[in-house]
Amino acid sequence: LKHYINGFPEESDLMIVTAPDAMEVKVKPGSSTILVKNLFLSCDPYMGTFMREPDSGSSEVAVETLSLLDAFIPGKVTTLHTQTNTWFQLAIVVNAFVQPIAGVGVSEVIDSDDPCFAKGDFVWGIVDWEEYSTVNSFGRFKIDISINVPLSYYTGILSVTGLTAYAGFFEICSPKKGEAVFVSAAAGAVGQLVGQFAKLMGCYVVGSAGSKQKVDLLLNKFGFDDAFNYKEEPDLDAALKRSLPQGIDIYFENVGGKMLDSVLMNMKVHGRIAVCGMISQYHIETQEGIKNLPVVVYKRIKMQGFLAFDFIDRFPKYLEFVLPYLNERKLVYVEDIVEGVENGPAALVGLFHGQNIGKQVLKIA
Ligand code: NDP
Repeated sequence: LKHYINGFPEESDLMIVTAPDAMEVKVKPGSSTILVKNLFLSCDPYMGTFMREPDSGSSEVAVETLSLLDAFIPGKVTTLHTQTNTWFQLAIVVNAFVQPIAGVGVSEVIDSDDPCFAKGDFVWGIVDWEEYSTVNSFGRFKIDISINVPLSYYTGILSVTGLTAYAGFFEICSPKKGEAVFVSAAAGAVGQLVGQFAKLMGCYVVGSAGSKQKVDLLLNKFGFDDAFNYKEEPDLDAALKRSLPQGIDIYFENVGGKMLDSVLMNMKVHGRIAVCGMISQYHIETQEGIKNLPVVVYKRIKMQGFLAFDFIDRFPKYLEFVLPYLNERKLVYVEDIVEGVENGPAALVGLFHGQNIGKQVLKIA
């Protein structure tokens, strides 16, 4: 990270540096550390929030999760040599303090001081965005390679993304068969899973997304009952009434702003709203007012924010739930995999422009 950001993250807020001595990092005996080669990195909207100054008004998410993941620290780089080409500036850095951004990643163990992890194991957990990392073995999940799924799934459906969809939908929304469910950002990482979990529960499921291609995916791949492109709807309230004429029992909130306002008017009495995220609001200076919030009172709506990390103890239960559906192909999972560490900044900021279709993953090795 070059500097703290104001407003939406941009590619130019990030830089890629080569630290020549990084490869010489060795695992110190007795340190419970492991040296890993990073393979896949997860691109997540919260990472943009971590690019803001920690005590600036809109970085509550960063503050809340600091115990697990620190807010990013802008690097102070002494550039000794730069080489520029069309897509990024590569800085060769010596003796400079550079703290990479970090997130969920899948890695291969190269060397380990912890008897629980051996060379050749695959793990997932929080890693810095770099090719090799020395990480604490605490908080590392060993990947069972006998489960026949791509390793990249451990950045998403088989890690935090999946747990988010599971905990938010089942724990916060308490769904019942036949209920009407609406999901925003439905073609994204979390949304595609919530929609399919709701279908598996026997619910009627509608999703919104930002392009025709995404709407087609919702209807024809993920099995949503109905879907609309919110960018082409002049009146969101009318679109919701068209797709859900009887009203909404459960809203899985990913975007906030105008969508939330329109959904509130269409919620049924005793409806539930899981506030998973509000991507439309994270980087605007003045939050949009929610005019219809008072309906929460007279419709007795339960509206609850949550963080996936709060439910980490449910992770084994989640795997027991999701793996049979994946094996039996009753659940599909779409990833948008971009290759090359140099393409990481564009992949990450693309989340805020709807460029990803499905889970955005960065493959670096
Ligand atoms: P996605 O894969 O859904 O990617 C983000 C998507 O959001 C984009 O593709 C875009 O889709 C949509 N979007 C971007 N900007 C806007 C906007 N201004 N208005 C409406 N939609 C927009 O990301 P995730 O599935 O990883 O995350 C979804 C939400 O869940 C986010 O709000 C995120 O912060 C939250 N989250 C919360 C967690 C928790 O623990 N509570 C954990 C993980 C995620 P489109 O083309 O449809 O506009």
